Amino acid sequence: MKVLVINAGSSSLKYQLYDMNDESVLAKGLVERIGMDSSILTHKPTGKEEVTEVSEILEHTTAIRKVLDKLVDKEHGVLNSVDEIQAVGHRVVHGGEAFKSSALVTPEAKAEIRRLFDLAPLHNPPAISGITAAEKNMPNVPQVVVFDTAFHQTMDEKVFLYPIPKVLYKKHHVRRYGMHGTSHYYVSRVAAEYLNRPLEDLKMITCHIGNGGSLTAIKDGKSFDTSMGLTPLEGLMMGTRSGDLDPAVVTFVMNKEELTISEVNSMLNKHSGLLAISGSSSDMRDITDGLEAGEPNATLAFEMYEYRLRKYIGSYAAALNGVDVIVFTAGVGENSAVVREKVCENLTYLGVEIDPELNKIRSGEPRRISSPNSKVEVLVIPTNEELVIARDTLRIVEESK
Ligand code: AMP
Repeated sequence: MKVLVINAGSSSLKYQLYDMNDESVLAKGLVERIGMDSSILTHKPTGKEEVTEVSEILEHTTAIRKVLDKLVDKEHGVLNSVDEIQAVGHRVVHGGEAFKSSALVTPEAKAEIRRLFDLAPLHNPPAISGITAAEKNMPNVPQVVVFDTAFHQTMDEKVFLYPIPKVLYKKHHVRRYGMHGTSHYYVSRVAAEYLNRPLEDLKMITCHIGNGGSLTAIKDGKSFDTSMGLTPLEGLMMGTRSGDLDPAVVTFVMNKEELTISEVNSMLNKHSGLLAISGSSSDMRDITDGLEAGEPNATLAFEMYEYRLRKYIGSYAAALNGVDVIVFTAGVGENSAVVREKVCENLTYLGVEIDPELNKIRSGEPRRISSPNSKVEVLVIPTNEELVIARDTLRIVEESK
């Protein structure tokens, strides 16, 4: 079966086409600047040259039509006909409490995703645009939704509730949901497989650290706690997001600076984190370059980032009453040897010991970076959220037959 995976943002649409017989990627690409003057479609068929096309793409329906045209294109295509696509899987950020796992797209499912717009105003509306656009272009093809929050629905009430008046949970569903669920799910499974040990026996801390970042404490293969909350702002210091702070900072700053809700939201989500402290960049590559050059602001940004990450690992080791495996994944986790080294050199009390040589290797494959003496297995595992979406899509479509 061929499955098209779609990740729709407000002005972008990422896609990957899988042949699920061998889980190979036939093509992938990205449409950027949807709704703007010149939209850019970048299409990469496996084993062939990447192509870029600039045109005017005003909304997601046209974006998907252009993608389908490329997939059957004589020169750059990988399919003879669009009919070869037998299912479409969509990434949806927020599934609230309604979606504990992936689901077939039905009018009810779409209505539920719309009800969740309030909780994910930047993410769920474009996901609905992507679903509607795919339905218009492929009306007879089953569609599946896969949620970032679903894996974390196993968290206990004592973990997911905030200690604030309970009426806010009842009335407005204010609670912790967590994000990056497909990634935490995927790397935890690959880790157990790599170690050749039963997942249920392992206490694991998975660190998904990219532009955004979250940690998950995994017990019995299930999400026990995770660092993102009602929104992706809670938890770690990130590229442009603050992560945890005293909630009173928000009202204090709003009052002193006369900021509106949207201004303070923008400050915490887009102008904080590494960017705010370094004063120059949200990208860990620039921060580590600055660290090596002895630049004071980049050094402080790095130290704060590493310290806050390490404190979370410590708190999750406490939450789990021990840790057997720590996994690093996503842009920073997979590529930054220095972040991994600095975090791990201060985790010796847990028995963590990494091998500096193994830590330097970049292979794009799951690998161990801990030394044989380490009491905790430390792994680097490239994440693959698209593959999880494709697998879930296949499973749900087959179950629905
Ligand atoms: P992601 O959100 O998972 O795509 O991660 C993107 C982020 O990963 C970038 O913004 C960088 O901060 C970080 N990144 C990518 N490559 C490297 C690298 N070689 N060293 C350090 N950070 C990196």
